[in-house]
Amino acid sequence: NICVSQDFDFFYFVQQWPGSSCDTQQGCCFPQTGRPAFNFTIHGLWPNFNNGSYPSNCKSVENSFDESKISDIIPRAEISWPSLSCPSKKKNSTNSDNMKLWKHEWGKHGTCSYSVLDQHAYFDFTLNLKDHIDLLQILLNNGIKPDGEMYSVEKIREAIKEGTGFEGGIRCNTDASGNSQLNEIVLCVDKSAASESFIECPILPDANCPDDVEFPIFYESPLIDTA
Ligand code: 5GP
Ligand code: 5GP
Repeated sequence: NICVSQDFDFFYFVQQWPGSSCDTQQGCCFPQTGRPAFNFTIHGLWPNFNNGSYPSNCKSVENSFDESKISDIIPRAEISWPSLSCPSKKKNSTNSDNMKLWKHEWGKHGTCSYSVLDQHAYFDFTLNLKDHIDLLQILLNNGIKPDGEMYSVEKIREAIKEGTGFEGGIRCNTDASGNSQLNEIVLCVDKSAASESFIECPILPDANCPDDVEFPIFYESPLIDTA
């Protein structure tokens, strides 16, 4: 066909609340390095089109996942980009596999922005984005706490807008008793992948949250007691 080299239009930068993986039917597992820090963690950086569709699995010979290419940034990824999925049905007992998540994210999403970010740059850039925005602090500043209570999605939206300067997407999942809860927060990033290049989303990800959602507890936190 006559399509021009428009690989994708922008990125979704997706962060997940660990408490919302752990209280599901499937439960969560932690990597060998232990329980993640009490904050949002990275799910992925996803190239997207302006119309809401997205490319995936743009795998080729030259971009196949190579663990050795990210050895220098693994310590940072272990802290900010842990996998919380249990490797088997034995929930809450075995360790999750970080490398499997990173390989999956690279293969499904990262390969589609290979023209802008090679494998090392993809992980480095994504980890840097996380350092620029403290989502938990932004929510706490607005009285939105991971205390298992219900919060208005509108209030969460406003807090993100005020704290980041941009509209964010909010993705929900359900806990083991079927309650909708805040699972992921999505921000948009310019396709040029210049540093700190958050942008207004050309299109927000599919909204699947009701008006009010639970913000689940993730272990105990001194932040909750003092807030
Ligand atoms: P879910 O079923 O959780 O909405 O999506 C499953 C997976 O599909 C996500 O983890 C992600 O890999 C991909 N995905 C879902 N929605 C989008 C989207 O709007 N843009 C992109 N790039 N990927 C998406
Ligand atoms: P997606 O395709 O939606 O980008 O990524 C989800 C895939 O990564 C699923 O196959 C899931 O089992 C795996 N995965 C591993 N660790 C995690 C994690 O911590 N969070 C999420 N959402 N998925 C994970």
